Amino acid sequence: MTPLKITGLTVYVTRIPVLIKRRHGSGDVEGSVRNAILKLETDAGITGWGDAAPWSVFTGTVEAAAAALHVYLRPILVGADATRIEALMQAADHAVVGHAEAKAAMEMALFDVLGQASGLPVAELLGGRCRDEIPLSFSVADPDFDRDIATVKRLYGEGLRLFKMKTGFAGHKADLERMTRFRREIPADAELRIDYNQGMVAHDAIRRLRDVEAFKPTFIEQPVPGHQRAALAEIARALDTPVLADESVFTPADALEVASRRMADLVSVKIMKHGGMLAGRKIASICEAAGIACYGGDMFETGIAHLAGTHMIAATPNISLGCEFYQATYFLERDLLAEPFPVRNGKVVVPRTPGLGVKVDEDRVRHYAEETLR
Ligand SMILES: [Mg+2]
Repeated sequence: MTPLKITGLTVYVTRIPVLIKRRHGSGDVEGSVRNAILKLETDAGITGWGDAAPWSVFTGTVEAAAAALHVYLRPILVGADATRIEALMQAADHAVVGHAEAKAAMEMALFDVLGQASGLPVAELLGGRCRDEIPLSFSVADPDFDRDIATVKRLYGEGLRLFKMKTGFAGHKADLERMTRFRREIPADAELRIDYNQGMVAHDAIRRLRDVEAFKPTFIEQPVPGHQRAALAEIARALDTPVLADESVFTPADALEVASRRMADLVSVKIMKHGGMLAGRKIASICEAAGIACYGGDMFETGIAHLAGTHMIAATPNISLGCEFYQATYFLERDLLAEPFPVRNGKVVVPRTPGLGVKVDEDRVRHYAEETLR
């Protein structure tokens, strides 16, 4: 393929108001979210877009993501051939340690360019799709549980069947009450999944999680802090319900440790944790070798990052537990895509158009931008 020279790089630091509050074991989100939106221009006239969506209590800060793109990754990208994605990702790792969200944004913008130039959707560039639709999960995380139950009923009516209840922020009794109401008021074919976001103390976790198992959750996610690996392994061994590791798995080395020591039954793959789709697929492959299925998690992303995650899951058989890409549709005041993020009957529809597959509304990006770095 003829080289595609990168001629311009712009970072928009956006602030988008959000419609609902979110409460988690590790921290709250309300009012607005901030993202670092990346625009790459090429000499072929093709523009690629990326989204870095850090969460300060989980992966990092938007200030650091914007600085990584603007200061440390700019010299690697401007003037480079956008088709050499693996080589550029390697150069990014040499230029700046960590900053997975910035690297995820960089990688998806490069794939967006390559896909448009070759006429192929990103899923096809990654090996081809093994699924055309991905079941969508909504997170039950509103401090106002009445409002949450009403939302779940509405989304159930729209076809959603996966619901992940965030727990560990209001006490065990309140968690059990919320689960009781969920099971009482929502039809039985709705899957209940539980995510503590590290919100439990290890010494009492097994006893409490045995109470939770009575509600037949599909899985219990990250009960204890990410570094408490021995406790996580003990919990996974003690429970009948599969335990999913999220905050415990950032790198391939983390995945290897979790897989080889069977510290969890399932793992959450997120492009913002691992630093892109290729990195996410490495995690999924390591897990696959150990019989650990993966879930397509996310951060507080716009539709741009959701699209990258969608293509990754479409092309990765072992990410088989659905996806969490509800923010563009149900959380943000307005998304940054020109067309709605593709959700139909409770499932994300994998785009068939080249690149990420849905155009970005650049005027809307500028509207929400608090800062523009070029
Ligand atoms: Mg989680």
